[in-house]
Amino acid sequence: MAFLEITGLRKRFGALEILKGIDLTLDRGGFLVLVGPSGCGKSTLLSTIAGLETISEGTISIAGEVVNDRHPSKRDIAMVFQSYALYPNMSVAQNIAFGLEMRGVPKPERDKAVAEVAKMLQIEHLLNRKPGQLSGGQRQRVAMGRALVRNPRVFLFDEPLSNLDAKLRVDMRTEIKRLHQKTGATIVYVTHDQIEAMTLATKIAVLKDGELQQVGTPSEIYNRPANLFVADFMGSPA
Ligand code: ADP
Ligand code: MG
Repeated sequence: MAFLEITGLRKRFGALEILKGIDLTLDRGGFLVLVGPSGCGKSTLLSTIAGLETISEGTISIAGEVVNDRHPSKRDIAMVFQSYALYPNMSVAQNIAFGLEMRGVPKPERDKAVAEVAKMLQIEHLLNRKPGQLSGGQRQRVAMGRALVRNPRVFLFDEPLSNLDAKLRVDMRTEIKRLHQKTGATIVYVTHDQIEAMTLATKIAVLKDGELQQVGTPSEIYNRPANLFVADFMGSPA
């Protein structure tokens, strides 16, 4: 049984149908990369998985349980956005610990968890700084730390590297791959960067106008694109 299972998912905003019947599964520990042009519904799909948007039809199950009506805070999912959305007045350590504090985790345990995550992300030396004193890449690490520390069942990443310069993007890509291998996390990751998709994914899903065009391993998608759109989008050899 797949860990994350999406069946017949439709999402309408008023009369406009944005997701037109999505079927998608992901095994525990899998790294699904969702690609597609701007406006095709990638962020909307992540938001429905996170529970930040309701769905019009279909089901979303995690670990065999339908979570359609479950509040976002009860889904055990962490989302990392392209804008870092850190709390500007809190230190890095407080930012990372915040979610645990809300859950009533005692201070010694919080401190231990923050120290572990900071070590993993190599931001130990930044723990007392405020977000405003960090570079874009450092802020992105803190945002990841905040997600990691909660040890959620599923991570959702929405173009987390799109605001970084090219060099940093490559470094962070390597970092994310390493974290995935190390933690065995289950990840759904949105990007419009084909190289990011090819290097990170265990499975790629190509979305166009709210419809999946193809789902497969990076090599299947690249070498055997289902249609011209996929071939074009992934830059497959003609
Ligand atoms: P992507 O992330 O692939 O760029 P989005 O999921 O953000 O695309 O958006 C898909 C479409 O849904 C867009 O046309 C967008 O304008 C529309 N959309 C997103 N959120 C809303 C909303 N809250 N109300 C109405 N339309 C929306
Ligand atoms: Mg988006």
